[in-house]
Amino acid sequence: MLEITDLVCGYGPVAALRGVSLHVGKGELVALVGANGAGKSTTLRAISGLVPTRAGAIRLDGEDVTGAGPQRMLRLGVAHCPEGRRVFPHMSVADNLAMGAYLRSADASLKADYERIYTDFPRLAERRHQMAGTLSGGEQQMLAIGRALMSRPRLVLFDEPSLGLAPNIVEQMFAIIGAIRDAGTTVLLVEQNAFAALELCDHAYLIEAGRIVKAGKGPELIDDPHVRAAYLGG
Ligand code: ATP
Repeated sequence: MLEITDLVCGYGPVAALRGVSLHVGKGELVALVGANGAGKSTTLRAISGLVPTRAGAIRLDGEDVTGAGPQRMLRLGVAHCPEGRRVFPHMSVADNLAMGAYLRSADASLKADYERIYTDFPRLAERRHQMAGTLSGGEQQMLAIGRALMSRPRLVLFDEPSLGLAPNIVEQMFAIIGAIRDAGTTVLLVEQNAFAALELCDHAYLIEAGRIVKAGKGPELIDDPHVRAAYLGG
C-alpha cells in the first residue's frame, strides 16, 4: 500500500532523513523504531505531507504522492496521529472528533462512526461534552486515535502513542492499535517502546541517523544482538 524509496528530508541545514526506504503492505502493522532524533517523526511527517521531500518518492497504492500536501493525503485516506496527542484543549471531546471528520459530509455513516468511537472508547462517551484539555493523558491519546479514525483512514500513522502514559494505559494503547489493524486498517507505528512495538508488528524497520539500518519480522529484530544491546536494554 505504501512504498517509500530513498527519501531525503531536512529542516534547513539539518538533514533528518538521508535515504529512507520502507514498505507497508495492505492490512499490515509495520513498526519503525529507533532512538531520539533518528528521524522517525520526520518519516511520518513526510508521508502526511507536513515536511517537504528533497529527494526520493512516496507511493500510495502505486500512485506517486510525493509532495502531495497534507489535505490531499488525508483525502487519499492517510491519517496522522501525532506525537504529544495535539488535541484541541479548548474544544469538547465531541468537537475534537468532528475535526477528524471535517472532510466528510454529514450523513448517516458519520453518525454511525461517532457511535462506534464512543462504543470502543467508553471514557470518551462519558466525557463527550468535556473540554479535551481536562482529560488525562491516556484519555487524550484515545481522543487523538478516535479523531484520526473519524476520517475513515486506510492508513494510520501513529507517532509515539505510548509516550508519557502509565504502564497499564500503555498496554491498553497497544491493544487498541492491534485491534485497529485487525479491523483491516493499515498501520505504520513509530515507537520508542521498541519491545512492545516489535512484539505487535507484522514487520519492522530500525532507523538510525536518518537511515534504515535493519528490517525484518518483529521476533527477528528482538533477537538481533545490536537491537537488543541498543534498544531493548540488553
Ligand atoms: P523523537 O522521538 O525525539 O521525536 P525522531 O526519531 O522522531 O525523534 P525526528 O523528530 O524525526 O526524530 O528528528 C530527526 C532530526 O531532525 C533530528 O536531528 C532533529 O533534531 C531534527 N529536527 C526535527 N524537527 C526539526 C525542526 N522542526 N527543525 C529543525 N530540526 C528538526
